[in-house]
Amino acid sequence: EAGSSPGENCSVKVAVHIRPLIGDESLQGCKDCVTVVTGKPQVQIGTHSFTFDHVYGSTGSPSSTMYEECVSPLVEGLFQGYNATVLAYGQTGSGKTYTMGTSLRDGCETGLIPKVMNALFSKIETLKHEIEFQLHVSFIEIHKEEVRDLLDLSSASKSETANGHAGKVTIPGKPPIQIRETSDGVITLAGSTERSVKTLKEMADCLEQGSLCRATGSTNMNNQSSRSHAIFTITVEQMRRLHPGVSSDDNLNDCMTEEYLCAKLHLVDLAGSERAKRTGSDGLRFKEGVHINRGLLALGNVISALGDEKKRKEGVHVPYRDSKLTRLLQDSLGGNSRTVMIACISPADINAEETLNTLKYANRAR
Ligand code: ADP
Ligand code: MG
Repeated sequence: EAGSSPGENCSVKVAVHIRPLIGDESLQGCKDCVTVVTGKPQVQIGTHSFTFDHVYGSTGSPSSTMYEECVSPLVEGLFQGYNATVLAYGQTGSGKTYTMGTSLRDGCETGLIPKVMNALFSKIETLKHEIEFQLHVSFIEIHKEEVRDLLDLSSASKSETANGHAGKVTIPGKPPIQIRETSDGVITLAGSTERSVKTLKEMADCLEQGSLCRATGSTNMNNQSSRSHAIFTITVEQMRRLHPGVSSDDNLNDCMTEEYLCAKLHLVDLAGSERAKRTGSDGLRFKEGVHINRGLLALGNVISALGDEKKRKEGVHVPYRDSKLTRLLQDSLGGNSRTVMIACISPADINAEETLNTLKYANRAR
């Protein structure tokens, strides 16, 4: 539907977001072990040095420019019919939720999702005389390779009471959400809530409700939210009016629609990238670890396959089907779609090992 040929704009942009030392770390006397090379998007840790598309925070660019540089082009692309994905990657506590704004606590003003919503509605305001818009929002979580609907109120309350240690909830009469692919390659989530929204407020309410659901849907909220991928998806449908001036009661059919475009933007707060701790394992936690690794591993493989020009030309298989996460994002990663990965890191020396892992993972994506 969108104009250019597949593969033309396949690259994945990678940014690093370095958060400041937070209270606890300062109290413990942690040292800052991450340096940004002045004037370059280059990060050093120990003897390692990595170059990315952008580096924010600490002494890099201020993170206030992150939306404009990394995400605004994707929002613009939605209006041309390009799907897009923004991924926040990093260990638990590195600032993924803060960066995305998928939290009630903080990030409300600073997070990327609120900025996306604002930009979207401002742009729509300027276009609404020529174009009719329909917006939908879904908000889901992938935990242990199962999809959970964060906008389904009945499932939220049920899982809170029924979620014992095993965590698996079956709701009578409600089939599990399934990821499906239409014949023209569009990925859909059968059985999940697609909320139609008309205003900024309605969209913000979806974000708030889902974030709340995410935080309270489990008996152990820190575990669950750090071990699951949260995906806030905005779908923009546009019908360009052929003769915007004509009043609606004459020649309705002739003047209504000429061009139809549909595109979606996935805003993903990924599971914590730290290796699953096996200590004190009751088997369950280990299984969770395996599943999380499956999503992040598959994502790393998909993105690196997409980013590798040589591999792409050789027609190397892109392993989308290896996890629910990559399957869901399949039509919004690669091809004509645009992807930004934001690698979130802590500057504290106690996190140096995980920070290095994150930088290596992000580096593979370029
Ligand atoms: P994650 O989602 O990766 O587990 P969070 O987003 O919850 O991490 O961030 C962990 C803590 O660090 C939170 O208390 C958050 O407020 C704080 N924090 C994260 N990023 C920043 C930032 N850029 N500036 C200030 N505080 C931050
Ligand atoms: Mg988080």
